[in-house]
Amino acid sequence: MSRWKCGVEGCGGRFEDVESVIIHQTTEHERHECKVCGTIVPEGYFAIRHAFDEHTRAEFVRAYEADSTAVRIREDVKSTVEKEANLNNVVQTLREQGAL
Ligand SMILES: [Zn+2]
Ligand SMILES: [Zn+2]
Repeated sequence: MSRWKCGVEGCGGRFEDVESVIIHQTTEHERHECKVCGTIVPEGYFAIRHAFDEHTRAEFVRAYEADSTAVRIREDVKSTVEKEANLNNVVQTLREQGAL
């Protein structure tokens, strides 16, 4: 069974490992425009990381009309990915593919 699901709205993609999910989100989904600052970022994990590293929770909630549950879900995703994924490998793979 595939443990990891993509999680992007409308996508049912499932993957064996978390690195594959991030690569999928970055290469196969439309880019996401940050609603706080307008920066174009990859969809999925990188969009979440951008939102929470670059902006405050309050800015995120205001711009996305999000509630505390939505914030908590994204914080959980971010910390799980950062615990499980070899992000250096992911970033290197994506750079080699010209996706970042
Ligand atoms: Zn997907
Ligand atoms: Zn932003």
